[in-house]
Amino acid sequence: MSTTALHTTALLDSLGYSDADRQKLHETYRYLHAHPELSMQETETAAFLQARLEELGLEAFGCGGTGVVGVLRNGDGPVVGYRADTDGLPIGENTGLEYASTATGTLEDGTAVPVMHGCGHDTHMSVALAAAELLARNTDAWAGTVVFLFQPGEETAAGAKAMVADGLWDRAPKPEVIYGQHVWPGVAGGIEISSGTAMAMADSWRVTVLGRQAHGSQPEKSIDPIVLGAHMIVRIQTILGREVPAREAAVITVGTFHGGLKENIIPGSAEFTLNVRSFEPAVREQVLGALRRIIAAEAAASGAPEPVIEEISSFPRCYNEPAAAAEVLTALRGALGEEAVREVPPVMGSEDFGLLAEAIGVPSVYWMFGSTAAERLEAGEAVAGNHSPEFAPEPEPTLGTGLTAALAAILGRTGTGQQG
Ligand SMILES: [Zn+2]
Ligand SMILES: [Zn+2]
Repeated sequence: MSTTALHTTALLDSLGYSDADRQKLHETYRYLHAHPELSMQETETAAFLQARLEELGLEAFGCGGTGVVGVLRNGDGPVVGYRADTDGLPIGENTGLEYASTATGTLEDGTAVPVMHGCGHDTHMSVALAAAELLARNTDAWAGTVVFLFQPGEETAAGAKAMVADGLWDRAPKPEVIYGQHVWPGVAGGIEISSGTAMAMADSWRVTVLGRQAHGSQPEKSIDPIVLGAHMIVRIQTILGREVPAREAAVITVGTFHGGLKENIIPGSAEFTLNVRSFEPAVREQVLGALRRIIAAEAAASGAPEPVIEEISSFPRCYNEPAAAAEVLTALRGALGEEAVREVPPVMGSEDFGLLAEAIGVPSVYWMFGSTAAERLEAGEAVAGNHSPEFAPEPEPTLGTGLTAALAAILGRTGTGQQG
């Protein structure tokens, strides 16, 4: 189901949000949806964003490779950051939408892949651009500066790091708080927000298990890296069952395990990749330490060389500073209604958003906005989620809600109460 009527809210009305504005938001969304790019390769997306920001009269500059910053100044007042991530995923879109992506890209290892905005970052960008436009047009309604952060490479945890390393906070005004939001297949029109930890820290490693190659008939001449790797993989699950206190939350997933080419050849090495998620820095340290200990000790038990551990990615905690989160909760409920905004416990998903604020020691607040028609959820329909080839947010009221939420949070801090 998709609504063709103008979806609006009292807040959007008060800012003069017109049918033409809504058409423009949808056109932008469909354009971005059809033109996804892989993480840290968002060149055309960045050019599109920069041109659009300049058109709206913002100071815009590139940062961190394919990141774009847009600064909207409106006199003295609070400086607020608002972040939208920009990357697509290596997924072949299968939504059947008329604006579905047929784009392709090339992974770092040279593999050609289809590309899709399978995590909905196209909704984030189009909402941020529409928010910038409405704020630029309604200078009586607020005072201060809004720094729009169009961040690349969220999916690989590379983008926020790259922007900060490229001198983001020497080049842009430093905000006192940074906001961000993510689309997910919850009820469209609704928001979910946590106070305190919102999303988990996530660490991914590649472990190369070294052994000694031999013929399958002569295991006595080998150090079998498959048997050894299997022991490691089974034993590391005991970290959660026997080492981390039961009241703490953590996950260890081994997502790949590869070794060997033929059933009667014992290979010289094998490789597995793992992903660890946790909410508390102390638990993260405990789990990562135990992983290193078990991996090394199992190798020693087999008489094998020390395995090689490489970090693939590390996502920081996404933490909603409680006072700032309470302020956003009030603003969102004011704009969308009490029932539409639910307070929820943290989720095991992860985000590199937190780094942008952590780099300058300011609070940040992050929330989720839904993208599935309530009737479909009530009917118990299995709805495709983020990272699925079938993930297809209902354009409305998803975009109108995302736009209202972005503006409510920003105006909650900068508003003069004079809109309309
Ligand atoms: Zn994602
Ligand atoms: Zn995402």
